[in-house]
Amino acid sequence: MTLENDKDLRELVRKAALLNAVQHGGKAQAGAIVGRIIGEKQELKTKAKELSRLIRKIVDEVNNLSIEEQKGIVEEKWPEALKKEKVEEERRLPPLPNADKYTQIVTRFSPNPDCVLHLGSARAIILSHEYARLYKGKFILRFEDTDPKVKKPVLEFYDRIREDLDWLGCKADEEYIQSDRLPIYYEYAERLLREGNAYVCTCQPEQFRKKTLSREPCDCRSLSAEANLERWQRMLEGGYDEGEAVVRVKTDVEHPNPAVRDWPALRIIDPAKYPHPRVGSKYRVWPLYNMAAGVDDHLLGITHVIRGKEHLTNQVRQEYMYRHLGWKYPETIHYGRLKITGASLSKSKIVQGVREGVYTGWDDPRLATFAALRKRGITPDSIKKMIIDVGPKTADVTLSWENLYAYNRKILDPQSNRYFFVSNPVELRVNNIPRVFEAKLPLHPEKGEFTKRFVKVTLRGFREYTITPDYEDQSVTFWIARKDAEAVELGKVIRLMELFNIQVQVKYTVSGIGIDREKIVALEAFFVSESYEEVRKAKVQLIHWIPVGQEYPCEVIMPDFASNKGFAESACEKLKPDTLIQFERFGFVRVDKNDAKLTAYYAHK
Ligand SMILES: [Zn+2]
Repeated sequence: MTLENDKDLRELVRKAALLNAVQHGGKAQAGAIVGRIIGEKQELKTKAKELSRLIRKIVDEVNNLSIEEQKGIVEEKWPEALKKEKVEEERRLPPLPNADKYTQIVTRFSPNPDCVLHLGSARAIILSHEYARLYKGKFILRFEDTDPKVKKPVLEFYDRIREDLDWLGCKADEEYIQSDRLPIYYEYAERLLREGNAYVCTCQPEQFRKKTLSREPCDCRSLSAEANLERWQRMLEGGYDEGEAVVRVKTDVEHPNPAVRDWPALRIIDPAKYPHPRVGSKYRVWPLYNMAAGVDDHLLGITHVIRGKEHLTNQVRQEYMYRHLGWKYPETIHYGRLKITGASLSKSKIVQGVREGVYTGWDDPRLATFAALRKRGITPDSIKKMIIDVGPKTADVTLSWENLYAYNRKILDPQSNRYFFVSNPVELRVNNIPRVFEAKLPLHPEKGEFTKRFVKVTLRGFREYTITPDYEDQSVTFWIARKDAEAVELGKVIRLMELFNIQVQVKYTVSGIGIDREKIVALEAFFVSESYEEVRKAKVQLIHWIPVGQEYPCEVIMPDFASNKGFAESACEKLKPDTLIQFERFGFVRVDKNDAKLTAYYAHK
């Protein structure tokens, strides 16, 4: 059998050629494919000449297709191949320390459900999830909800956080809720007390502070284990009131950092005054952050803790407890602060603003919550890409909204269909139009249509409008944006995009004919010519338009919550909610509602 007749081989070559083409802008390299095929099928080495002839032939066929067609075939026949390429492309994070020491990498994200998630959490979530994925490990979501008093959790946020993670593509493999785990923390508290590594301190906070600052132990530190366990029982049974007793883990009373000296691990919160939204008044003794997080990281088998460097002292604190319990502390990566200029990331301000009605909800476009970003059409992939590019470095990083928009634009530009939106519309009457025009506007500039072997193939399609001049005076009236109407200079030629060239003669204002920009109500122009080539060199102003009668009411909510009202073209009537589109010369928007009127949220330019 000749190679030419080997169906399986042909298919193998075709797949390699298509993948190679998709990776190289539509043009496959025959040489690379020869190497790849021989690598897979050593027996073909002796038939290299015949093989490379076959490969060149198939590569020519593949290269004759447009990249869209190539992608289409790959997506249809070998969708997993594209995914594999993607993973490789993203594999740019530095390796995890000591990853080879563990049979399975386990990371976690551990939010307090006292607010929705916002951009400030993106780094912890995405890095932890991405590392787990890269190492085929496990990503755990752990709700840290053991402070029903100051950082009181709220029921609705548990679900909102889960939703946000799903949206980001960072769904957890396992989930834990600390308020379900109180008996576990009690068990380890008792063990620490029993083994003399913790004590119940009943000193007045002020008194203890003085002692600790002067590197002296308080009297409780030298109590016997029995005495401590007795005090512990009293704590649990209500023998102490809030603030009267606290379990402290023994560290070093002379530790250079006073915050490390005998840190508090569990305290009393009055269950009648501060019931927990999930477990009610069941518990009066609650673990503090380092106790709960430290015990859980060990018990849940977290191998790598990836978190902000503000946690460095917590690691020092927790390491004492780990030594007491004979545990090995997980590997840690402490990244620097990530600031997004102009984004308010204060949880308390967000919660307060929403509760008081300053913001319309968790997805108010003025917020940097994931819900708001979602509403505006910021894609999860753009956030992911940005965070992975920043990586886990320890230096502080300041980014701007513009940085995020640039990532998002790269994703939206090739996929979003184009439409016209005329904001704050003004009428433009064009006279002397010589004939009927069929305006055929591609839904996407690069993907409207292409020619394949002399046959025109339409991929995305067009929006089509028939421009029929009035029988009597050969005029057509359009809507144009007020901004454009203001900028037009009388007597200068401008072009209605994809239609024809006109010259504006008159601007009508509320008080008659004039140049009062603010008060323009209509423009009058006449038809000049059709060809774009004719005016292209002169760099004439290009403006978008909607024929009167073809308009569809549209409102775009801007990131500052300003409303931009006007008309979209009638083709927008069919758009489904959640579609991301580009209004030409205006920006990318996400369709939020579409019911006799289009409501969209603005993403960015
Ligand atoms: Zn004490």
